[in-house]
Amino acid sequence: MTKYIIEPAVQASLPIRGSDERFPVRRVYCVGRNYAAHTIEMGGDPNREEPFFFQKNPDNLLTDSADFPYPDKSTDVHHEIEMIVALHKGGSNIPLDSALDYVWGYGVALDMTRRDLQAACKKAGRPWEIGKAFEHSAPASELMPVSEINHPTDGAIWLKVNGEIRQQGDLNQMIWKVPEMISYLSGLFTLAPGDLILSGTPSGVGPVERGDKLEGHIDGVGDLYCKVI
Ligand code: MN
Repeated sequence: MTKYIIEPAVQASLPIRGSDERFPVRRVYCVGRNYAAHTIEMGGDPNREEPFFFQKNPDNLLTDSADFPYPDKSTDVHHEIEMIVALHKGGSNIPLDSALDYVWGYGVALDMTRRDLQAACKKAGRPWEIGKAFEHSAPASELMPVSEINHPTDGAIWLKVNGEIRQQGDLNQMIWKVPEMISYLSGLFTLAPGDLILSGTPSGVGPVERGDKLEGHIDGVGDLYCKVI
């Protein structure tokens, strides 16, 4: 057994509905601008450009309905409701027609974003990490296995803040479908079991405040609850 000079980090993981086992997380990839209406609200062109990706850190996941602490260094923190795609197989250059075989299950997540810092990064041509990959920036639901829910391709995805709908879309509005994002991403990175992909957000992103109660939902997948503190 390997001996380490300091205690190794705790393995990041997500709960699984109806199970006391957890899904160990290796990497968290996020797809940018995957719904046309959101691309337009962010000032982009919704024509089918190549997908682009950024990453959050596995230990940014906020699980088990824990509260979201409003982060420092920002006064404009936004919610982005997204579907999680959880992989149980990995590889490079995964063919489109077998890409769904790599998916273990699905969940609901929030890609919390320090929009003011992200905007400053964009303007300066710098990486987005400080806007995207901060502590607790990825509240996530339980995962649901494909064996129970199959592969959702349509159905409502929405986010309520204090009971009011803020974001609403349908999974069938995703520009890059799940097999396409897996296949494309696997050409850029070697995917591995435990990798998550956050598949982009529909329109309606906006700021949160301390005290807000966030409730996310994807038909056939599940629900996410999170309070901003
Ligand atoms: Mn996002």
